[in-house]
Amino acid sequence: MRAHNFSAGPAMLPLAVLERARDELLDWGGSGMSVMEVSHRGKAFVAAAEATQAALRALMGIPEEYAVLFLQGGAMGEFAAIPMNLTAPGDSIDFLLTGDWGVKAAAEAEKYAGVRVVADESADHFVRAPREGSFTVSPDAAYLHYTPNETIRGVEFGYVPDAGPVPLVADMSSTILSRPVDVSRFGVIYAGAQKNMGPSGLVVVVVRRDLLGRARPQTPTVWDFTVQAGADSMVNTPPTFGIYLLGLVLDWITDQGGLLGMAERNRAKADALYGFIDASGFYSNPVDRDARSWMNVPFLLADPSLDATFVARAADAGLTNLAGHRSVGGMRASIYNAMPLEGVRALVDFMAEFERTHG
Ligand code: PMP
Repeated sequence: MRAHNFSAGPAMLPLAVLERARDELLDWGGSGMSVMEVSHRGKAFVAAAEATQAALRALMGIPEEYAVLFLQGGAMGEFAAIPMNLTAPGDSIDFLLTGDWGVKAAAEAEKYAGVRVVADESADHFVRAPREGSFTVSPDAAYLHYTPNETIRGVEFGYVPDAGPVPLVADMSSTILSRPVDVSRFGVIYAGAQKNMGPSGLVVVVVRRDLLGRARPQTPTVWDFTVQAGADSMVNTPPTFGIYLLGLVLDWITDQGGLLGMAERNRAKADALYGFIDASGFYSNPVDRDARSWMNVPFLLADPSLDATFVARAADAGLTNLAGHRSVGGMRASIYNAMPLEGVRALVDFMAEFERTHG
């Protein structure tokens, strides 16, 4: 019996993907080896990595003028790598802060460049995105950084910010591949894989090629976008299993109708869960309706002394990882691409039953 796993990441993967990985584990493509045991420079793996990149380009509509990099160090590594690649000492970066990850990204960037916060939603504990057009991007900023979906408090932008001629940089860790996106609006998109793409250990960076060639001399070679773009992300050993598994996930997304199919599926799940929470007098979600995440749904019980009981009873019912992030408490259901509507329905049924017996 598989659990209904609501973890924020590493998160559940599609069953079909795990079954295929299992079937291919001992003998990948007739090699007599697992994909983890073949050379990254061998013909078979190079072809697999190219196919994975081609599938990502097709699904997201990534134009030719963007490089796609498969790197390591997680999204947090990119908090440092991006300023190292895109700024010179003395430059300044604009930030939109709508949650905890954006705050961490800004703190890391500050080691390398000036940071200007042009929108800060911390005053009400991060429950909304800034209104479109309500902030001014500095024309001389090296780039504008934002977090389209904040994983901890479940705040998601319903629009792509207009940065004018300033490159727009997005930490898409917890929303990538969940719906269509116009890649041409961005200078850099990056995402840790462990939510919607595969196992941890892989971070995907999509960078407009005109932003290459600016890395500081001190930039670690493995994080130098220009070097990695010129070496097909193989300046050293890439995270081979992660790249392989991403390929399987992309095949699965394609089978589900691509990003339009994902969007439809994700909207239905989010509507079911938020709809139930809003109709209940027992559960609540504090986020503004137009900024509610499709991927991470935090919710509070009317009586917080029941939190531990809720988590324990839910686990007994096969619904796991529902405790909110340790920094905020309450509950959080992460309902990434791989979570089926039936999983959300099982959660809603459990929540209704818990309210009847404890509310
Ligand atoms: N950004 C966001 C939005 C995240 O949710 C996370 C991880 N939960 C990170 C960055 C950090 O990612 P990693 O652990 O891959 O460094």
